[in-house]
Amino acid sequence: MKKVFLFPLFVLSLSAAMAQSLEADKQKAIQNLDAQMDHYGAIAHEIWGWAELGFQEQQSTALLQKTLADAGFRIEQGVAGMPTSFIASYGSGKPVIGFLAEFDALADMAQQAVPEQSPIAGQAAGHACGHHLFGTGSVAAAIQVKEWIQRTGTSGTIRLYGTPAEEGGGGKVFMVREGLFNDVDAVLTWHPSSQNAANASATLAAVGMKFRFHGTAAHAAAGPWRGHSALDGVESMDVMVNMLREHITPESRIHYAITNGAKAPNIVPAEAEVYYIIRHPDMNELRDMIQRVIRCAEGAAMGTDTKVDYEYINGYFNVMPNQTLASLMHDNLEQVGGVSYNADEKAFAMEIMKTYPSDKLTPESAMEIAPFKVVEKGGYASTDVGDISWVVPTASMGAATWAPGTIAHSWQAVAAGGTTIGTKGMLVAAKTLTLSAMDLFAHPARLQDAKNELEERRGSDFTYESLIGDRNPPLDYMKFNNN
Ligand SMILES: [Zn+2]
Ligand SMILES: [Zn+2]
Repeated sequence: MKKVFLFPLFVLSLSAAMAQSLEADKQKAIQNLDAQMDHYGAIAHEIWGWAELGFQEQQSTALLQKTLADAGFRIEQGVAGMPTSFIASYGSGKPVIGFLAEFDALADMAQQAVPEQSPIAGQAAGHACGHHLFGTGSVAAAIQVKEWIQRTGTSGTIRLYGTPAEEGGGGKVFMVREGLFNDVDAVLTWHPSSQNAANASATLAAVGMKFRFHGTAAHAAAGPWRGHSALDGVESMDVMVNMLREHITPESRIHYAITNGAKAPNIVPAEAEVYYIIRHPDMNELRDMIQRVIRCAEGAAMGTDTKVDYEYINGYFNVMPNQTLASLMHDNLEQVGGVSYNADEKAFAMEIMKTYPSDKLTPESAMEIAPFKVVEKGGYASTDVGDISWVVPTASMGAATWAPGTIAHSWQAVAAGGTTIGTKGMLVAAKTLTLSAMDLFAHPARLQDAKNELEERRGSDFTYESLIGDRNPPLDYMKFNNN
């Protein structure tokens, strides 16, 4: 009888020993990252200071690539037609776990690292979405995973995608379209935030489109009958789209800006342009809405005797939540814990928090981990991570890099992101990414579960077809003509 129990007991103790050593390795990874806080904080701060706009992130991408190359990663530079993109890899074979690193800033958002609104003289752009932390934190995690792979002889590949121009340029879409994620088993990523949360959350699918109307110029008083106003075309289109709003589902979103409305009222304008963003939680409904907006443009051109053409600027799939990966990430986030401020950081956060209503929040809120939830529909942002999430099981988390209650794209986000508040939040993300990747390397069954979940959600007959067709990356989209 004893022999019957011997084998299961042996297996049990072996797996218990393996679990124990993985746990010890995780603790070591956390300690290593803590010890490197100043190192990665300095890198993030450098990128924060450069604040480079989409597709112009030369210094930022070079610093991240150098950091990875120095740590022993192979670097492939300028992939998918984007000079500032890169892929850094370490290890070989399966599984392949991918991290994402963004590093672009936002125009007109320069702000000093002080808790009151204070622009930086001579600088326009600022890291109001915290992508300097995003990029650096993911690099820190990739290097930590690499060191673990190397030390333990674990098989598989850790890969970091340097993804430029998230803010409107949609760098990741071109990488997905190029097939650069086809052999990846899971993507783990994060985003700066004012709270710590790892949820399985959807976003809206979205496209950005520029409609350009072409008319005929003429003297607006002496010969207006000789002209055809391109601005009339834009205005007629906007009126029709505003009527269309009543006849689309409530979760739809359409917004526009007239990006060329002519300059002088005494000239019938020959050229005018309007930039639309169209969003919906469902890809099929979005594709239908795009056609309806295009028909408004065509109708407007016909009625105003002008011509119209349009260009897709960007197009993002909705994020496909993956509960398997997100819950794994949540468990690790709980183990890592939130951000605790020292006295200076607390005082800084309290000053920031005075600038917006935050009844229920205190500086201590940065220590909390939000309870896990699944949001199938209802996230109202859009991101180019969406396209990745349809081809690879993907999970994302937020880490408290900003004072509690801060929203993205604000001076408050730039300010805190330039201090150790940002660095500490970044480390929470780096640790959680590291631990979650270690889990996936150690437990391939979790990867299979995540894959099965993705197949179930998107259907087995899915083939990826980007929303932007075959257009090239809009490399000049953030180059402004200041005349
Ligand atoms: Zn943003
Ligand atoms: Zn962002």
